[in-house]
Amino acid sequence: MLDLLIGTGNVGKVNEYRALLAGVPVNLFDLHDVGLADLDVEEDGGTLEANARLKARAYADAGGRLTLADDTGLIVDALGGAPGIYPARYGGPGLTMAQRRARLLAELAGIPAAERSARFVCVIVAAHPQAGEMLSFEGVCEGQIALAEAEGEHGFGYDAIFIPQGSDRPLSLMPMAQKNQISHRGQAVRRLIPYLLSLANG
Ligand code: IMP
Repeated sequence: MLDLLIGTGNVGKVNEYRALLAGVPVNLFDLHDVGLADLDVEEDGGTLEANARLKARAYADAGGRLTLADDTGLIVDALGGAPGIYPARYGGPGLTMAQRRARLLAELAGIPAAERSARFVCVIVAAHPQAGEMLSFEGVCEGQIALAEAEGEHGFGYDAIFIPQGSDRPLSLMPMAQKNQISHRGQAVRRLIPYLLSLANG
């Protein structure tokens, strides 16, 4: 079976990949499994795709296996596109994710629901160890930033303040399987799966 390394230290992402790839004949490894949990990759690529390529290349070469890495942006129209491609840094260094979410809600104070449109964009890059070619797969989840944070226990990051289009509740109130059906990462993974199947069967 094809070995596949999930190149992220984000436990929320790893769990989503495990569920999204459950029906695909691959042996999944995370960074802990291959002793790379402490390998930090500088994300200075300037685009989601460039950052995902940096991560995929570094983990593929260090881990010696086919590797996936994703980079995810959050674009809020009323804020001129902020947090943009670096949502993990939004609000400045040293903040918790709860503080970053609170900062985003504060920046949008007074802006009505109809003007709070936003989207998550996820770019997954697949890299082979010691080989130049890398393939990219993108998914977008349209939605809006909630008026206030939800109490939900699911998801991670900005899920507690992001309401996907067609829903009245944020991602953090949805079980993972439901988030995966509509999310940016779920859509990108569904574009990636035919490629993984071609490798697994090839
Ligand atoms: P990165 O893609 O690992 O660089 O993550 C960027 C930032 O976006 C981090 O603060 C994550 O917590 C957040 N993030 C990434 N994916 C998601 C998601 O699916 N839902 C909510 N927040 C996310």
